[in-house]
Amino acid sequence: MSHAPDAQPSASLTERQKLRLDARSQVEVEVEVDRERCVGAGQCVLAAEAVFDQDSTDGRVLLLEPPPGGHARTDVEQAVRECPSGAITVTPARSPT
Ligand code: SF4
Repeated sequence: MSHAPDAQPSASLTERQKLRLDARSQVEVEVEVDRERCVGAGQCVLAAEAVFDQDSTDGRVLLLEPPPGGHARTDVEQAVRECPSGAITVTPARSPT
């Protein structure tokens, strides 16, 4: 349950967050977690503790606020690969409409 000192978890069943994951890139991606699908395995927190946390009541994934700066790309990609339930998706950020 460790995370960056100023980051706070937020909780809803599906959470989305736009992140600039690579400091050398202007491209933002959107990280989405499906808390209904999450089985609380915690691999995402181990891979990217600046981005993910687990709810202290049910162990399900939480996205931390504020999102981290541009250094988390490989960590988030590792979290996606290692999540046993497929609860994390990363897509190019959508433009506001
Ligand atoms: S790795 Fe996947 S299943 Fe495990 S806590 Fe994170 S999102 Fe949930």
